[in-house]
Amino acid sequence: MQWNDSVMTVKGVGPKTTSFLKKLNIETIGDLLEHYPVSYDCYEAPVTVHESNILDFAAVQGMIVNVPFVRQMNRRQIVTTQLRDCNGDMLRVVWFHMPFLRATIKPGMQFVLRGRLHGYGTSRMMEHPQIFTLGAYDALIGTRQPIYELTSGITSKTIGKAVSQVWKDGIILEETLSKEQRERWKLMDKQQAIHQIHFPESDCAVQKARERLVFEEFYTFLFGVRQMRRQLETEKNIYAIIEQPDVWELVKKLPYKLTNAQKRTFLDISLDMMGDHRMNRLVQGDVGSGKTIVAFLALYQTVLCHYQGAMMAPTEVLATQHYESLQTMIQTYQLPIRAVLLTGSMTVAQKRLVYQQIEKHEADIIIGTHALFQEKVIYHDLALVVTDEQHRFGVEQRKMLSDKGLAPHILVMSATPIPRTLAIIIYGDLDISVIDELPSNRLPIKNCAVDISYRPKAYEFLKKQIAMGHQAYVICPMIEESEQMDAENVVEYTKKLKKELPSTITISYLHGKMTNQEKDTIMKAFAANQIQILVATTVIEVGIDVPNATVIVIENAQQFGLAQLHQLRGRVGRGAAQSYCILINTSASKESKKRLDILNHSNDGFYIASQDLKLRGPGDFFGVRQSGMLEFKLADIYQDAEILKLASEAVDEAIREGHILQEKQVMIQ
Ligand code: ADP
Ligand code: MG
Repeated sequence: MQWNDSVMTVKGVGPKTTSFLKKLNIETIGDLLEHYPVSYDCYEAPVTVHESNILDFAAVQGMIVNVPFVRQMNRRQIVTTQLRDCNGDMLRVVWFHMPFLRATIKPGMQFVLRGRLHGYGTSRMMEHPQIFTLGAYDALIGTRQPIYELTSGITSKTIGKAVSQVWKDGIILEETLSKEQRERWKLMDKQQAIHQIHFPESDCAVQKARERLVFEEFYTFLFGVRQMRRQLETEKNIYAIIEQPDVWELVKKLPYKLTNAQKRTFLDISLDMMGDHRMNRLVQGDVGSGKTIVAFLALYQTVLCHYQGAMMAPTEVLATQHYESLQTMIQTYQLPIRAVLLTGSMTVAQKRLVYQQIEKHEADIIIGTHALFQEKVIYHDLALVVTDEQHRFGVEQRKMLSDKGLAPHILVMSATPIPRTLAIIIYGDLDISVIDELPSNRLPIKNCAVDISYRPKAYEFLKKQIAMGHQAYVICPMIEESEQMDAENVVEYTKKLKKELPSTITISYLHGKMTNQEKDTIMKAFAANQIQILVATTVIEVGIDVPNATVIVIENAQQFGLAQLHQLRGRVGRGAAQSYCILINTSASKESKKRLDILNHSNDGFYIASQDLKLRGPGDFFGVRQSGMLEFKLADIYQDAEILKLASEAVDEAIREGHILQEKQVMIQ
């Protein structure tokens, strides 16, 4: 059994489970082992009815006192009975759809029932609890069962079983850090760490295991970045890019003045591209700071020097938007640029045509998704690649490019607010430009964090803003109704809004399961103000730019991460008009209110990220992951900043000692 073997080779994992696992991107044993739990279910000693608290999740031990009663209600079969604990206190119990319990649960039998407690005063009841015999529960006390991210058709139990089977088969994981390193940085060995993260013996063990795995994630990532940088230092600039007065002519004609930060950033880029070495620059700027125009200017300069430039976006919606706005600029200012769009959903014939245009250099600027670097695309004179809102700075993109024999200048644009001190650890000192200034025509977004009683007012407000000619977004967490989650969904919400608002207002929805063509049509209609309210999931989270939209209502706001809410909010406040963000909190919890208050009181991405970290606290291992740009399996650059520093030192040391990074390998005993 090897790290790269299919999960099918694990005993007990059949074709059906395999296909469910695939939906979670688990195909190999390695994927399975790296599908870390999101939390743990801790089995604690049973409590008495008297000791139990309403809304707690707890186990109660006792004796069944009456024959379960089965009745039919609204097509549901309901089983009820009562349990008496050692003090003689009663617990009422209800199960759904389990009529067979009548035959198995008999008066006089002892059980441990585990579930959420309801009730008022001293009365207690449990809905649909798990049932254990005393012995079975006893064996579980003190253990932690892993809870995994799931998809329908699979349970945490199935995944846990598969993982423990891998262990039973005696897998031996190759150690990726040397013994000296582990001793020096006080790290668990890998074999133990992966075992403990799935089946921890104690809270302390989870922490140590996590530390080790986070360290490794950072170590591997930083090693890659450092190696890339070292290589870059030896890579000469092979493109003859020279200053182009036409670029500044265009800047003069734009309907707005560039901010100083935008100018400075463009100068940084321009100097890099004219310099001795290949460029690899990160542009960081909060949402709405105007990164796109800076990228366009860099691409324009490239084209004026007779090279091709490409721009890659993470979604088709965003790629299409960039393409449309570039085309508008080309037409408005009569620019000598031939731009094309290349996305995965184009027809074969359309793609073939674009491939030809690229290969013959009949296209100067190519905008698209990952399709830009597919095998069939042959560039003629590619000198600059811009990646917008991409994960993982450069490393993967560079590999993709060098696999194709290309070595263009690289520009990465991101709205992820990384504190400068962390950014320097990650990328080194040199190649970051920060757009730390918003265009001067902007009014700060006005926020309010409210509960559901505010909805009617919110709808009135939407009406008013639309009467003024503006547009709005409404964000819902779900696409369709779901049994598992109590949250608004775009399909039903659109229907509801249509009923609530006058029919003169056009309302449509957008979500990730629609075809690209459908999404495209909707986005274009919204950009043209043919749709006034767009009800959407987080598909519109990054990059979308419709400056006429002035209101964003976010439903079930407490279910999103703060950084994500900040990104979503960035869809408004992109023009001169006053914009508004209405965060609807549907939870009664104090924590939710506290988190949303941070957003309510600040529009500053850096501040929000830092506050979020404080609130979550270092003990919250598996909180909502915030660092959108740097995606690690476990690590979080904010929360794990200390480990990041250590890993960075370890990498520097290893490089000084001449180590090279080993590929992950696993052997079987
Ligand atoms: P982001 O940094 O989030 O990618 P965009 O580049 O999409 O932001 O810019 C947001 C909006 O601001 C766009 O509509 C753009 O035309 C406009 N914009 C960019 N720079 C300026 C500026 N200096 N003054 C006014 N508006 C600007
Ligand atoms: Mg953008």
